[in-house]
Amino acid sequence: MDMQVSYLDRLFDAGILMDMGVDGLYARSGLFEDVVSGIEAMVSRVGRADGAETMRFPPGMYMKHFEKSGYMGNFPQLAGTIHSFCGCEADHMSLIQCLQAGEDWTKDQKATDLAYTPAACYPLYPIVAARGELPVEGGVYDIESYCFRHEPSKDPARQQLFRQREFVWMGKAENVQGFRQKWMDRAQAIMTELQLPHEIEVANDPFFGRAGRMMKNTQREQTLKFELVIPITSTSNPTACCSFNYHTDKFGQTFGLKTADGEVAHTGCVGFGLERITLALFHHHGLDAKLWPEGVRKALWG
Ligand code: ZN
Repeated sequence: MDMQVSYLDRLFDAGILMDMGVDGLYARSGLFEDVVSGIEAMVSRVGRADGAETMRFPPGMYMKHFEKSGYMGNFPQLAGTIHSFCGCEADHMSLIQCLQAGEDWTKDQKATDLAYTPAACYPLYPIVAARGELPVEGGVYDIESYCFRHEPSKDPARQQLFRQREFVWMGKAENVQGFRQKWMDRAQAIMTELQLPHEIEVANDPFFGRAGRMMKNTQREQTLKFELVIPITSTSNPTACCSFNYHTDKFGQTFGLKTADGEVAHTGCVGFGLERITLALFHHHGLDAKLWPEGVRKALWG
């Protein structure tokens, strides 16, 4: 924990992150964003060969699609829904009185049609399903979104609002698994170029409650999710910076995704945690990016 606090303080002192009053919510400096852009450019260069269709999402998604995704079943503790004032003038008066008296004014806020996006690829599935069957060769998508997870922490690598860059594949099971393997190799090559120590592990997601323990076992036994981990604020508990997911036909069933021959589509995705990789670079190469190894600077900025 101390390492996490001291790294966060060093980032604040260097002006790389700026405190916004809440743990896990930070403003980013121009330098931080230059590093993010460099990582994005590397990922784009590698992924371009796949002919992916590009989409960029806002940080919120339609509540109905959020409900369908199953996120509340697995991670209710991390989810964020968007609420708003929906009352009349009298309700407004009492809200103002509560605000002025320093009392809880949020009790009458009502859920809207929006939830924060918990994983970048969730908004993609309904968009693709609405188009009808996938092309014969399947679908490949290059997406990015701000994501929300309610887990306030002093660990700068565990933010509440952060960006996930993803490549998503849809189609036949064997092709989706092949894509995942290809991206596991590609992501490791990227981290080697960035001179970051890394390992691939079977993931250990924080599924909620007793039923969640079963989900955790299934995920591990079927190796549905791998992570690329890099030590940032702890060497014994390195941070997941990329994930490689095989969803089987779960999202295909849920959102009605069909292959060209009418079968339920399988899906998979690779996610790059842009803030986490950036923080790994500052941790391993120092807070002054001008002093980073020449090879790392070249990989990021040419
Ligand atoms: Zn995904």
